[in-house]
Amino acid sequence: MVNVFWFRRDLRLEDNAGLYHALHAGLPVQCIFIFDKNIIAELKEDDPRISFIYEQLKSLQEQLKAKSSSIKVLYGNPQQAFKTVLKDYKVHGVYTNHDFEPYAKIRDDQVARLLRKSDIQLHTFKDHVIFEKSEVVKSDGLPYTVFTPYKRKWLEVLNSNGEGSKSKYFRSFPSIKFNNYNKTKHRMPSLKKIGFVPTKISFPSKTVSQNIIKSYDKNRDYPALNGTSKLGIHFRFGTISIREKARKAILLNETYLSELIWRDFYAQIMYHFPHVVGSAFRAKYDKIPWRDNKKEFKAWCEGKTGYPLVDAGMRELNATGHMHNRVRMVTASFLTKHLLMDWRKGEAYFAEKLLDFDLASNNGGWQWASGSGTDAAPYFRIFNPSSQLKKFDKDLIYVKQWVPEYGTEAYPEPIVDHKEARERCLATYKAALNDAL
Ligand SMILES: Cc1cc2nc3c(=O)[nH]c(=O)nc-3n(C[C@H](O)[C@H](O)[C@H](O)COP(=O)(O)OP(=O)(O)OC[C@H]3O[C@@H](n4cnc5c(N)ncnc54)[C@H](O)[C@@H]3O)c2cc1C
Repeated sequence: MVNVFWFRRDLRLEDNAGLYHALHAGLPVQCIFIFDKNIIAELKEDDPRISFIYEQLKSLQEQLKAKSSSIKVLYGNPQQAFKTVLKDYKVHGVYTNHDFEPYAKIRDDQVARLLRKSDIQLHTFKDHVIFEKSEVVKSDGLPYTVFTPYKRKWLEVLNSNGEGSKSKYFRSFPSIKFNNYNKTKHRMPSLKKIGFVPTKISFPSKTVSQNIIKSYDKNRDYPALNGTSKLGIHFRFGTISIREKARKAILLNETYLSELIWRDFYAQIMYHFPHVVGSAFRAKYDKIPWRDNKKEFKAWCEGKTGYPLVDAGMRELNATGHMHNRVRMVTASFLTKHLLMDWRKGEAYFAEKLLDFDLASNNGGWQWASGSGTDAAPYFRIFNPSSQLKKFDKDLIYVKQWVPEYGTEAYPEPIVDHKEARERCLATYKAALNDAL
């Protein structure tokens, strides 16, 4: 008899809540991972995130081997995969960590139902965030929709159980020995077998110099500086522990901690307001008559808008799978305000390209930029891409890195005039929002 631990967005052995509970339950533990056909069938064959997951699984396999254990990697529909697991093992319980994305909730319900038929329980745990569900809500029990009071309450709840880095919410789960269950070498299906080829993109390290975090508040807004952690992909796939990083952040840099709180904020928004996936948080913003100009959208995607900061950002994204946060804001604002195109189009493009793509944070960022989201700046505040450039890359170091032809004849003319685009945006938003009242 075994307990099964199902890895998903938590690809690490240390400080993993669900794995800790599985090992703590006494029985031998068999780890599994499922390459879910429903998700990966839609991805391009060289999607770097699949290569990333694959590398992490190989590393987990090695680490588990050293503990005389193993991970079984399956490929297919999760319910089908569990039928195979139930054939191969006498399973007592299945352990895993929460995932509140809409598809994940349906998948987990279906798997739980399947397991129940065999009297097996699906045990799930919080691991991906510091606070989830309704752990941080207003005094009347309603969820926060504005960041600053959310953050205040977040810190209050954190400190209610030990001050600062000593808070119990930051505590790591202790390591528990694997009891030598399974020495069978489970062969992983090859990347090719699941329909992918290795990526050429390289991944940011999960070790970050303390100086970057210590100077985060001073440097984070300048894309030419190496001023942010680039840990997004590791937070996304759980190759690092949020508890460990937040515990360090509170000691090193309050602004950095704030960014981690934004991550919790958007996760709880998606949990409490699942309609944000696909619709505007504020319904009336769905009345905006978005333009659909394929040529302009293509120019935006390729970084050929004639606005250097926008173009540098898009080219960085296309080449590396990363884009600096300041530039994400500028490019998203440009698409939704200057080009007046539906934020969902930009959201989908980022989802396809970002190594750190996370449904809740990406959706939050896009709705913020278009003005339709929680806590968004009022629609009449429109980023001026040229002043943003002067402020945040005045020496054109970032721009020259990604747009080497900037300043030459080869660089395109702006596809829209800033002043005209701004006025068109204000008029369109105003009319649509007034009509919707
Ligand atoms: C339009 C748009 C789309 C975005 N899409 C995503 C996305 O798909 N996935 C994603 O993780 N972040 C997203 N962000 C937030 C932010 O841009 C990235 O988290 C950050 O740039 C990642 O770089 P980093 O790892 O160096 O972050 P750092 O600046 O070093 O921050 C550390 C971590 O804090 C979290 N974080 C930072 N800023 C935010 C934020 N505003 N909202 C939520 N979490 C944050 C991330 O996990 C990040 O890795 C988006 C922002 C915008 C404006």
